[in-house]
Amino acid sequence: METSEIILSGDTAGIEWRLPVLRFKGSDPKVPKVYIQAALHANELPGTALIHFLCEMLREAEKAGQILGDITIVPHANPIGAAQSHFGELQGRFDLGTRTNFNRDFPLISVRERDGLVENLDQYGVVDRLKRQLMHMALGCDLVIDLHCDDESLQYAYIDDAFWPEAADLASALDMEAVLLSDGESSAFEEAVGYAWKHEVAGDKKALLPGKLSVTVELRGGRDVYPEMAKKDAAGLFKFLASRGAIETAVALGPFTGPAVPLDNIEMIRAPEAGTVLFHRNIGEKVGEGELLATIITRPGMADGTVEVRAPQAGLIVTRSSERLVRRRADLMKIACASASKAARKPGALEN
Ligand SMILES: [Zn+2]
Repeated sequence: METSEIILSGDTAGIEWRLPVLRFKGSDPKVPKVYIQAALHANELPGTALIHFLCEMLREAEKAGQILGDITIVPHANPIGAAQSHFGELQGRFDLGTRTNFNRDFPLISVRERDGLVENLDQYGVVDRLKRQLMHMALGCDLVIDLHCDDESLQYAYIDDAFWPEAADLASALDMEAVLLSDGESSAFEEAVGYAWKHEVAGDKKALLPGKLSVTVELRGGRDVYPEMAKKDAAGLFKFLASRGAIETAVALGPFTGPAVPLDNIEMIRAPEAGTVLFHRNIGEKVGEGELLATIITRPGMADGTVEVRAPQAGLIVTRSSERLVRRRADLMKIACASASKAARKPGALEN
């Protein structure tokens, strides 16, 4: 394992960020190259824990001469966000200076323009420099895995249609509980990487990208950071890398049997009014149409002081909010359903 650091000078005097990058050199240039990062949203740590144990396994594989494809790993992709504390609370999702989501506004370019990502970096603020460096590394690879987590959540992934169903092997290897098939229409890291590959040839947008993968894996909820869980996830990802030929070891993957639904089939359950939310149902549960999901106490103590939130259609509860005081229109749950939601959805990501 080789280690290096990318140095990012801050936008104010006296500040410098250091981004550790770990590399395993592959012996076979013909097999896929791999890029893995975690904690782009700086307080999403299940992936960082996974990577810690994955690297243990990869060092063993390296000793045994089994690393065939180059593997580049950024265990914590966002030192800028990790240092942002606002009145004692870590703010890892949005850059406080520009109010932009650390996982949006990645450059939408062709992979042919990859080198330009790291040219004249001085003209960009530090967050954009970070994004450009990450994307530059990813676009040098074939399999790109961005490890995130949701709030309270099952393990699931956002996978662009362009990689499906080939990517069912990743879902199987990681034992995912659901796959959300996305449209590739956002500027999130994973989708910007897919965009660059789709637009490799000028004027000819590819619909399918066989042999490639760029994916956002949601490794359950923000607090699901435990040694056994992280070791199991690391073993799963190791198996996936072996099955795609990046590591020389025999693996057998079963078929993925969980639900794989388009984003249009996700019911985003929102709070109709502000108040104290009492959840009746939990993640992992299947609900029927019209079933009670939550009661919101809108006027505590009053006889008519509650409103009910019910399931618009049957489905699997994939995520749930960890907040208990909710604002009007706050996201309460994501439910994966068999049919499209009647609620209008803009193309792109489900959440800001
Ligand atoms: Zn995230």
